[in-house]
Amino acid sequence: ASVGDGILGIDLAGTITVVNPAGAQILGYKPHDLLGRNLHETIHHTRADGSPEPAEGSKIQEAVHLSEPVRVNDEIFWRKDGTHVPVDYVATPLLDDGEAVGVVVAFTDTTARRELDQMKDEFVSTVSHELRTPLTSLRAALGMVASGVLQSRPEKAQQMLDIAVGNTDRLINLVNDILELERIGSGKAELHQSNVSVGDLCHRAADLQQTSAAKAGIGFRFQAENVFAWADPDRILQLLTNLISNAIKFSPAESEIFLAATYEADGEACIAVHDQGRGIPADKLDLIFERFQQVDASDSRAKGGTGLGLAICKSIVQQHGGEIWVESELGRGSTFYFTLPSRPSSNLR
Ligand code: ADP
Repeated sequence: ASVGDGILGIDLAGTITVVNPAGAQILGYKPHDLLGRNLHETIHHTRADGSPEPAEGSKIQEAVHLSEPVRVNDEIFWRKDGTHVPVDYVATPLLDDGEAVGVVVAFTDTTARRELDQMKDEFVSTVSHELRTPLTSLRAALGMVASGVLQSRPEKAQQMLDIAVGNTDRLINLVNDILELERIGSGKAELHQSNVSVGDLCHRAADLQQTSAAKAGIGFRFQAENVFAWADPDRILQLLTNLISNAIKFSPAESEIFLAATYEADGEACIAVHDQGRGIPADKLDLIFERFQQVDASDSRAKGGTGLGLAICKSIVQQHGGEIWVESELGRGSTFYFTLPSRPSSNLR
């Protein structure tokens, strides 16, 4: 009764004679609802592709004839509500004096494992696609130079090398971001929290981006003094730098980036990075915090991003126990907010 996997027992006619609570729960029944029913007709009648699963010759039957356990992976059992659950199971014959008298089916719900596998597959395929794009341009540009056809056209050769360098930079950023996400996600990046001045961090992050802001004709304004947080200063600097670099990328010239911090009612510090840029459509406000999600598929090439920056920001904030979100008005600007814990004495320096 206390095992987490499902256990069903059937007699030779295929009638369910015993079921444990976990088994009944996985299948969406009360245990006594299952007793006396035919196992095949109740939970094993149809395959995942919709074709009927014949009762004769099923793996569960096979266990009786073979007189030894049969292990089956990646099948489904049907639930009471008409949905199905992916399972792995072992069907073991019940022997009485060497004679088979029934079968015990021990099964595991593999939903979580399948979801994880699917996520991994999707991640690997996105990463390979993201890596292949710059690599293909890099190969083409270097191929032109290496072939010698540009020997008499040094300007064109230079142009190809510039393309190659640009794509190499993109690859390096991409690999760094992927490794960074992995480091934070796997808990390998320990937090070194202390009482930090949010105002100082905002100024330092803006200073780091001063050159690109000035180039784009963008100025900064601050209102973050006297707010303190219990946080890892390096991580927060990385987070702010990411948000500011996005704000610069998506803002017009002569606009302003406003960095503000306040305390929430519950005492948490709330930091806002406001820009007057192009804004983000309402249906993308949550999505952009996911890996490789960009509002416009051309953003990575046009703006030099990887689509991983906000996923990294989200991991950093979550590691601190805070939240991150964005509010935006198309064509008018966006404000990214995140919260951080603060100690009760945190407003005293
Ligand atoms: P990227 O490396 O592409 O900047 P991010 O994860 O940092 O990746 O951002 C994901 C996407 O969210 C961007 O490509 C852009 O479409 C959108 N975005 C992020 N910040 C802003 C902003 N301040 N204004 C408008 N769009 C933004």
